[in-house]
Amino acid sequence: MGDGNREAAVVGSGPNGLAAAVTLARAGLRVTVYEAADTLGGGLRQARLFDSAIGHDVCAAVHPMAGAARFFREFDLAARGVELLRPELSYAHPLDGGRAALAWHDLDATCAGLGPDGPRWRRLMAPLLARSRDVTDLLLSGMRGTTGLPAGPLLAARALRLGTPGAHRAFRGEEAAALFAGAAAHAMGPLPSLPGAAVGLLLAHLAHGQAGWPVPRGGSHRIARALADDLEAHGGRILTGHRVTDLGQLAPARTILLDISPRALLELARPALPPGYARALSRYRYGPAAGKADFLVSDPIPWRARPVGRAGTVHLGGTAPEIFAQESANAAGRSGERPFVLVVDPAVTDPGRALPGKRPIWAYAHLPPGDRRDPLPLIRDAIERYAPGFRDTVLAGRGIPGTAYEAYNPNYVGGDIGTGAITLRQSLARPVPRWDPYRTPLPGVYLCSAATPPGPSVHGMSGWLAARSALRREHRLPPPALGPLR
Ligand SMILES: Cc1cc2nc3c(=O)[nH]c(=O)nc-3n(C[C@H](O)[C@H](O)[C@H](O)COP(=O)(O)OP(=O)(O)OC[C@H]3O[C@@H](n4cnc5c(N)ncnc54)[C@H](O)[C@@H]3O)c2cc1C
Repeated sequence: MGDGNREAAVVGSGPNGLAAAVTLARAGLRVTVYEAADTLGGGLRQARLFDSAIGHDVCAAVHPMAGAARFFREFDLAARGVELLRPELSYAHPLDGGRAALAWHDLDATCAGLGPDGPRWRRLMAPLLARSRDVTDLLLSGMRGTTGLPAGPLLAARALRLGTPGAHRAFRGEEAAALFAGAAAHAMGPLPSLPGAAVGLLLAHLAHGQAGWPVPRGGSHRIARALADDLEAHGGRILTGHRVTDLGQLAPARTILLDISPRALLELARPALPPGYARALSRYRYGPAAGKADFLVSDPIPWRARPVGRAGTVHLGGTAPEIFAQESANAAGRSGERPFVLVVDPAVTDPGRALPGKRPIWAYAHLPPGDRRDPLPLIRDAIERYAPGFRDTVLAGRGIPGTAYEAYNPNYVGGDIGTGAITLRQSLARPVPRWDPYRTPLPGVYLCSAATPPGPSVHGMSGWLAARSALRREHRLPPPALGPLR
């Protein structure tokens, strides 16, 4: 390999940018990561918002995908000192009347709590758990090869049952239906839908899988730090506070990986892009917004249904039909009265995150695209509904409207934290229909953000797959091993 040929640039230090950078650096390229923000990590950043001793995860907090994805299995977070702590209750879903549906890590305990739907939940989940690696590898793949294919028929049969209009017949009681609808709602699109069912099946079965729905001890930034340390150990460097506005700024890099949105690629390079590719990028659709609220509270959340207080993650959204209606309205741009809300008290799983009388609470609501409202009152009221007295425990709080999220991170277009809607089309052909979805028509330039397969979440797979493609095509290099240096 000629010397100039070894220079590589990665724009953006989110989990995908860092996964790409680690992969390229381990293959022998000289990698520079350019990050617009003053801190690295993209969706993995932490901030001290109200108290210098309490850290708040600004974006991602809970990591079922990092616990299961192939990139992180090979990278081996545990060997890098990142402890993924698994709550005994993966997620809970309070309902009116002091009831709650509970997805314990233990499948038996979960089924025992679901009454007549217990056997149905087991029939749904047990076969997926038996093939969990295939299920995960298929759904967190580049959607082009044969990875995980043996799980295809299992998943297809279940997705057709749970992702089509007959979905409401899948369960008898409200609890199991709400449990599944809450997992499917992570797709942030109309429900029921096939992509929603696929996301729901992946997440719901991982709740009972080996890693469960874990939180990293100390916070999500620990994952970014482990990736950055590995990159630096392989000669890479990260320049924070460097917003890239022109690909020319990346000279002399001949291999360029972009952890950015398709809209940003158009802004960076439109004159150089073939018109057909530019048109396809401009047809890429963005989804609903997230409105975030962070609280500092004095006490654990006083959930009316007491077991909810043991959950790593809590879903608020009422019954399955209510969630379906709300998520569908949201995706169509109509705000409803009771948006779907996710709540995490990280100290439930990682007690070190709290101090006596002070704990961080992380929450966000699904809102229509481009929503400008301060989500804090809405989220506070949603929690209060199932945890009367929560309001009185709040010492401080701040809300980030969907549109403000875009200013924080340009990848969240209109507040869409998935960097693109999860429609059926965009699940299979993300960001544009091409055999290699990572490669752009510009020589040596690849997209590697959540706008490429397998889509949003902290799994590193988009970055890893894009980097593998670049190594193969640009350098005829095989993918490097990712395990820790011995
Ligand atoms: C509120 C919220 C909650 C979430 N919760 C979870 C969760 O619990 N679990 C989970 O798995 N996922 C969660 N996610 C989603 C997850 O954070 C993202 O899917 C993931 O971070 C995407 O990774 P990425 O590398 O593609 O992009 P990002 O993490 O968005 O990183 C992109 C980076 O690129 C930088 N950048 C963009 N343009 C430029 C430029 N021109 N020049 C230089 N730098 C640039 C940005 O500043 C940013 O740092 C959440 C997201 C949000 C916002």
